[in-house]
Amino acid sequence: MKDVLLIGAGGVGRVVLHKLVQNSDVFSKITLASRTLSSCKQYQNEIKQRYNKDIDIAQIDADNVSELVELINKTNPDIVLNIALPYQDLTIMEACLKTKTHYLDTANYEHPDTAKFEYKEQWAYHERYKEAGIMALLGSGFDPGVTNVFCAYLQKRYFDEIHTIDILDCNGGDHGYPFATNFNPEINLREVSANGRYWKNGEWIETQPMEIKMVWDYPQIGEKDSYLLYHEEMESLIKHIKGLKRIRFFMTFGESYLTHMKCLENVGMLGIEPVEHDGCKIVPIQFLKTLLPDPKTLGERTKGKTNIGVVAKGLKSGKEVSYYLYNVCDHQEAYKETSSQAVSYTTGVPAMIGAKMIAEGKWLQNGVFNIEQFDPDPFMDELNKQGLPWHLEEL
Ligand code: NDP
Repeated sequence: MKDVLLIGAGGVGRVVLHKLVQNSDVFSKITLASRTLSSCKQYQNEIKQRYNKDIDIAQIDADNVSELVELINKTNPDIVLNIALPYQDLTIMEACLKTKTHYLDTANYEHPDTAKFEYKEQWAYHERYKEAGIMALLGSGFDPGVTNVFCAYLQKRYFDEIHTIDILDCNGGDHGYPFATNFNPEINLREVSANGRYWKNGEWIETQPMEIKMVWDYPQIGEKDSYLLYHEEMESLIKHIKGLKRIRFFMTFGESYLTHMKCLENVGMLGIEPVEHDGCKIVPIQFLKTLLPDPKTLGERTKGKTNIGVVAKGLKSGKEVSYYLYNVCDHQEAYKETSSQAVSYTTGVPAMIGAKMIAEGKWLQNGVFNIEQFDPDPFMDELNKQGLPWHLEEL
């Protein structure tokens, strides 16, 4: 039995919390900490009512290393789950290093002032984590996360060499609002308004935002416009998948979402630099976040399904083969179980599974690792047991 400290009482944190409690044979003491204590209190009551289980709560500013060290020392967890924002990755990693505690997250480090994410600064902790005898598991959400495990599983079982990978992320859900984002609006809008990028024959090729579009027929959802974006899991997959020649990432967007986004961008509302307004400085995208519906409140209204998966092509025993490995998740089912919609659910369940892999010693090595570096089999089994069953088709 292991104790955990979960940081971040947002949409994804809520799902992680439910899943940790549902796996009480593995996780004993759970502490939920976030910037706002009232969110922790709300989830603490929800867990008490639904499972009759007590959890501890705490207020924390996860941008502050010494506060984090103090909280980790006080609660003494075996693993810290960082489900706050990508901005806090380095401070939480630093605090885990100082306290010799295992670390897990679902999104790679992003600096608040530069809309760019990369693993460089997190990978730089590898030697220090190794020497401290602790592990960091990076990117244990769905994408990154399950999509990386899908690639590792296909590589292990169905290919000698994978030549091309397309990661296909479809949210076929409808929340009924003209415009809202399914997870943190700032992180989401920064990601989708940035230039696209894919990797081919050893080089990154940059595209304009939404320049490359294809239509894909997503099982249980149907045909959807899918746009090429840069996504962080590609950076680690090009290091770890044998023989790879090309990797791309596509996400679906409806006409209305794109029109709203373009308009907001054109008037400067996606800006991350502070602007002067009536004598005070405001960051446009942060103000926009205040106006948009809180993703936490979308769960109840969202109907439909998500389908996220991987299409891989390559060679097996000298023959060309292609496979499509995917999960379909229903927004309303996810909401019934965890009071969160499927985008939070598909991220939170794999975060708990990653923690379970560490807690049970199935994935335990000293250093900093991306999720595809471990044996995918036990994780794939857990996906089926914990609410994210997967489907494999030969194409
Ligand atoms: P939310 O904005 O709903 O939640 C983030 C939480 O972190 C909030 O409760 C917030 O607290 C807390 N927080 C923010 N800053 C601090 C801080 N300095 N100190 C303490 N707590 C802080 O986001 P989501 O739940 O939607 O996303 C959580 C993470 O999951 C993000 O990193 C996101 O990028 C990642 N993600 C990963 C995906 C994947 O598939 N890999 C997919 C979707 C999301 P407060 O409410 O008080 O401000």
